[in-house]
Amino acid sequence: MPALSSRLRVALIVLLIIVGLLLSMYGAGRIAEQRAWAERSQEAAGQLDLYAQAIHTQVQRFRSVPALLALDSDIQALLNNPSDPALQEQLNHRLEEQNQAAGSSVLYLLDRHGETLAASNWRDWTSFVGNNYAFRPYFLDALANDSGRYFAVGVTTGIPGYFLSSSVKNSAGEVIGVLVVKLELEEMQREWVGQSGILLITDSLDIVILTNRPAWRFRYLRPLSDAVRDRLVAVRRYAEQNLQPLVSQRLQRITENSERRLVDGPDGSRDYLWQRLALPEEDWTLHLLQEPQLVAANVRSYRLAAAGVWMTLAFLLLYLAQRRKTRRVEQRSRNELERLVEERTRELNTAQDELVHAARMAALGQMSAALAHEINQPLTALRMQLASQRLLLDNGRIEAVREGLGQVEGLLERMAALTSHLKTFARKSPAGLRQRLNLADVLEQALQLLGPRIRSDGVDVALQIPANAWVSGDGIRLEQVLINLLTNALDAMQGRQARQLRIDCHRDRQSWTLSVADNGGGIASEHLDQVFEPFFTTKPVGQGLGLGLAVSYGIVRDLGGDLEVCNDALGAVFVLHLPAAEQPVDE
Ligand code: ADP
Repeated sequence: MPALSSRLRVALIVLLIIVGLLLSMYGAGRIAEQRAWAERSQEAAGQLDLYAQAIHTQVQRFRSVPALLALDSDIQALLNNPSDPALQEQLNHRLEEQNQAAGSSVLYLLDRHGETLAASNWRDWTSFVGNNYAFRPYFLDALANDSGRYFAVGVTTGIPGYFLSSSVKNSAGEVIGVLVVKLELEEMQREWVGQSGILLITDSLDIVILTNRPAWRFRYLRPLSDAVRDRLVAVRRYAEQNLQPLVSQRLQRITENSERRLVDGPDGSRDYLWQRLALPEEDWTLHLLQEPQLVAANVRSYRLAAAGVWMTLAFLLLYLAQRRKTRRVEQRSRNELERLVEERTRELNTAQDELVHAARMAALGQMSAALAHEINQPLTALRMQLASQRLLLDNGRIEAVREGLGQVEGLLERMAALTSHLKTFARKSPAGLRQRLNLADVLEQALQLLGPRIRSDGVDVALQIPANAWVSGDGIRLEQVLINLLTNALDAMQGRQARQLRIDCHRDRQSWTLSVADNGGGIASEHLDQVFEPFFTTKPVGQGLGLGLAVSYGIVRDLGGDLEVCNDALGAVFVLHLPAAEQPVDE
């Protein structure tokens, strides 16, 4: 079950990373796209400003021409005498010259009925002279408002143009005619052909009047109502041009004046950045359509960057999470290990205690024969004493009986002391016990237990120990060590004639050194390294376990001391070092 859930977790994480990756790539793509479009749109707006400036300059140049000419006295004269051929011819020449000088397309004069009296193109077959333009809005506007402007396709020439008109007034201030200048913006349109992008100028009806894409001229961008169409026919604004729609569909809005549009051109549908700029004076709108190529590259690099950042972040997070997890696991296993070590140490301590006790019981067992003898002796003496007491009582020697009973008491006390000591020695002593001990006392206790054997073996004991040899430790354990050293020495001297045991103790800087030497012949040199090893024994089965020295060594090390062995000329020498304890205050 945990394996499944961890697998599920991995799958979830992978899924999360992938989803995050896709989302970040998508988001970055969107941002990049938006930015790129906004930049392009700004560029396009800048370009449009330039075009607008050019158009404005162009139109501005001609705006004042009709107004200035309206003041001319020849014009006034002709309007007053419209049927004077000499005047008409003169004015035709004037207008022709003026037109040439100004660089406009046609310059002409209408009377107040819209009849053309004179025109700069009077020589051409397309001459306006004699034509009536009363239906043209620029004529009507000039009558009503003194001036007019109007884009239309020439009725006579079929050439589109921008008509700027100005009224001509007599001295009484009445409108007597209208002067018109026609500008053909074809040249400007030709200049645009080489430009990148598609440039359109639409009029107030959103009909394309100028463009560097000839096929798109006279297309309308928004549907025309029937009423509007009828009116356009009436004023013959686009002459005989067949109006077609330019179908497009908005894909995305970028700013107020720019958007992305899918345009149905003559060469199929295309995605364009469509930028607009209104020309309020002319009531026109400028449009610039550009194909987006660089945007895709931008979007790709933004997406890649976002993917990189996301993956780095994701892996960093994963790494951190993994590290935290590893640390937790490490901590847990460290705790577990500590717990195990503690448990094992506890078990080991218990085992060691058991071992120490077992070794002590073994030592006691070895001593048991001699001890039984030791107790038996006073018992025999007691029996004899009691018999003689009875005799003394019979003879009425009360004083002698009192004295004899004192001796009996002494014997009983000796026995009681020995048995109580045995009881204490056999007791289990807890590890780690620390008490202030006098080495001389401990040694005396040990010698007391071994006394029977020493006496029966006839061992000569040379003892030298100061009374102030204070150490700290567990008395029973220390006694166990000494009994072990002494027993081993007695065992080693078993076959000797004269048995000598030398015990010596002296202060050695911060510690007390106690040596136990015998004349048992010593330890074979190849065994010197092994005597402290558990179960090393040279004694016959049943007499030695090989634990005594190993256990003693452990006890001494626990007390912060050391136990060493060497041979001298006569036998083995065991040297015990113990840290010195402070003297009791009353010493
Ligand atoms: P055990 O007495 O049961 O053999 P010990 O650990 O007390 O176990 O002693 C290990 C061995 O060290 C003894 O069997 C003996 O060979 C050697 N040994 C110890 N003390 C002496 C000594 N005083 N003289 C000679 N050999 C000794």
